[in-house]
Amino acid sequence: MALPFIQANTNGRLHAADEPSIAPLNRGFLYGDAIYEVWRTHGGVIVTWDEHYDRLERSAVALHLALPWRRGEMRTQVLRTAAAYRQAANYTGELYIRVQVTRGGGPIGLDVALADRADFVLLVQPCPVNSLAVQQRGLRLSLATGSRRNPVESLNPAWKTGNYLNNILGLQEARARGADDVVMLNLRGEVTEASTSNIAFVGPDGVVTPRLEEGILGGITRALVLTPIAPAVGVPVREAVVRATELSGMSECFLMSTTKDISPVTAIDGVNFKVGPETVTARISAAFADYARQSAAAHPELRT
Ligand code: PLP
Repeated sequence: MALPFIQANTNGRLHAADEPSIAPLNRGFLYGDAIYEVWRTHGGVIVTWDEHYDRLERSAVALHLALPWRRGEMRTQVLRTAAAYRQAANYTGELYIRVQVTRGGGPIGLDVALADRADFVLLVQPCPVNSLAVQQRGLRLSLATGSRRNPVESLNPAWKTGNYLNNILGLQEARARGADDVVMLNLRGEVTEASTSNIAFVGPDGVVTPRLEEGILGGITRALVLTPIAPAVGVPVREAVVRATELSGMSECFLMSTTKDISPVTAIDGVNFKVGPETVTARISAAFADYARQSAAAHPELRT
């Protein structure tokens, strides 16, 4: 299958993403010794630039990985890569922007002292939003049974690293059952998140979303739903443990992520949830879209 054009930028060199650019000795390739971030545009403007860059820096600190460029320099590279994509693909729609950072390369061996210098690879393509049909019917999810989200003491899921194998295996299992995405549990059987999205439920006391302690990525979208979005639409929201056995007590469920914003969920295995215009999820989704529009209008310097 021919790959659609994706713009890459490796350490400042613009090129097509299907060309090789990182050496076989790169530690991101050998060990997953890497971190990443993903932004999207709304109305052509990159939103929550600083929130994502802050998280990239936290991931770097957690892995003792020095970032040898300034935030402003990376922003210049991001805007340059986005412009190159728009020109090459003659594309005016919304963008997905990924920065992958590795510890660099060097002789084979785990010791970080062997690494030369951090590399970055930027990737820009159209933002893979949900289709209208999926947004209307809601996502079908399935609980992973063969793999669990790792505990916070063991490669904390709060760090956005190049290690997604538990989630890859969980997603593969869910897809084999015909589901769109997976719900990962932790070792205690508590709900954590989906493969690349946070999860929330609407229950009798409002919106509830798993805590960071359960072992999740602290999502930027999730943080915005917690404050200001859900309170602004008059919906109480809290972080709490949600056990797999409690799902049938929930009336709605939705996923939260940068690329897909708020995605309604129609079912997790045999448990069905309400979907449609009269739901709390729809109110939160509309408020999120307003927030994104306002945020884009406030940041003309991040227009792509
Ligand atoms: N959880 C995981 C495991 C993710 O990979 C992501 C995004 O990539 C999210 C949650 C959602 O986070 P955000 O809203 O910051 O995109």
